[in-house]
Amino acid sequence: MSEELKRETLLCPYCKAGPFDGEARTVSARAECLTVTWHRSSCPHYAADRILAGYEA
Ligand SMILES: [Zn+2]
Repeated sequence: MSEELKRETLLCPYCKAGPFDGEARTVSARAECLTVTWHRSSCPHYAADRILAGYEA
């Protein structure tokens, strides 16, 4: 059994961007899982995710 972080890729429910057509992504680490969410660069959820992740500037 590996102790490495699991990596989970999510599609944004708003802009429906994914690894192949997304232009931007946010990454957040939870307990044992690294979550990558893809967005269009104009997606308002991307802006919100950046603020939540601490990339406010
Ligand atoms: Zn999005």
